Amino acid sequence: MPTLYLVSLGCSKNQVDSEALLGLLLPRGYSLCAEPEQADVLLVNTCAFIEPAREEAYEVISELINRKAGSGKLVVCGCLVNRADDTLKKTFPGVDAWVQIKDERNIFELVSAWFPVESDSSPVPRIRISPPHYAYLRIADGCNHRCSFCAIPAIRGGYTSLPVTDIVGEAARLVGEGVVELNVIAQDTSGYGRDLDSGQRLPELLDALCTIDGIQWIRLQYLYPATITDQLLDVMTRREKICRYVDLPLQHIADEVLKHMQRPGRAYTRELLGRIQERLPGVTMRTSMIVGYPAETTEHFEELKAFIAEGHFHHLGVFEYSHEEDTPAFSTSDRVPPGEKQRRREELMLVQQQVSFEKNQQAVGESTVVLLDECPGPGTAVGRRPGDAPDVDNLVHVTGAEGLPPGSIVPVRITRAEPYDLYGHAELDGIV
Ligand code: SF4
Repeated sequence: MPTLYLVSLGCSKNQVDSEALLGLLLPRGYSLCAEPEQADVLLVNTCAFIEPAREEAYEVISELINRKAGSGKLVVCGCLVNRADDTLKKTFPGVDAWVQIKDERNIFELVSAWFPVESDSSPVPRIRISPPHYAYLRIADGCNHRCSFCAIPAIRGGYTSLPVTDIVGEAARLVGEGVVELNVIAQDTSGYGRDLDSGQRLPELLDALCTIDGIQWIRLQYLYPATITDQLLDVMTRREKICRYVDLPLQHIADEVLKHMQRPGRAYTRELLGRIQERLPGVTMRTSMIVGYPAETTEHFEELKAFIAEGHFHHLGVFEYSHEEDTPAFSTSDRVPPGEKQRRREELMLVQQQVSFEKNQQAVGESTVVLLDECPGPGTAVGRRPGDAPDVDNLVHVTGAEGLPPGSIVPVRITRAEPYDLYGHAELDGIV
């Protein structure tokens, strides 16, 4: 049986693409191996939307070129390929194939020409690499917005929603595999359905997903400010399965910067935050910000720091501006020096660290529910509250949950707080 080694880089949206690639190959006779030296086919699914992501991809490609066996074939897929020019391809002559995103569905034809398999088994939509109890559910691809710093529309094209029936079918299949938490993702998750004639939008989709038995938590990630409607907030209020979690990448708060970024402005943003907090009491909020954008002055950065210090957000990601070709901002000079971008990022993260610590301290003594991700037998289990997304948010370290499998949802009394993580003890007579 030919062997396959996979490296999946980048975000959860890219991970879903990697899982789809596995779904095209593994059922038809390829098997995963643990080391690149053992592989017939080495597959790298790349991310390339900012410079650090591209550098990581270059490092991985170089390493795999060095480690692949003489007969091994190295295939590079994903966003980097859509941005790659001939110079890049010449830099890595050890790559055997560069596969554009639109051609990934033909991966089996490419690979089987090198390593034929005798199998009449059919492919499956995806084979997950996330733990069995949670999954990412992608509902659309591409983006119709034109944020000035973002290359995603150039890489992924316009917004395309998947049909509701396909998404619900996929969700039901995931539940059949043991998934209890669905993390709903797209480039603009709240914009779902605007390209569909059916009139079905995100609220209707969520109503349909909530009817599936076995789903315990539904979490929405990557909401876009201008596409959050009152109907969406209604369904989040009404449906207990939908986590009171709003992941709302805002990128900045200074009006001049937002205007230059071609995003909704300060007044709209503040009104929206107020509306969300009023309609969803106790909501956990996550955002991401960009520092060092060309239009960002020191005054704008101070405004951003003061905004974060107001304490709206439980979780924050901060990115240094990356000057990207294929973006509207590329015609502006990349004015803020790299060292200053880094300094601003670190300073903003320090402000958030204090906010996060204060919020965590407020949770001490409270009882909450925790979904267990790791249960190492007699040791301390690790899990997340409804307000903590996998891979990016805080963790809760739980004692007293011995013997429970991952995916269990248990009541936990929080006993101690650190800036980002929490500690607690399971109250096992109330297992959900
Ligand atoms: S909403 Fe803006 S930042 Fe997000 S993918 Fe679309 S263009 Fe990029």
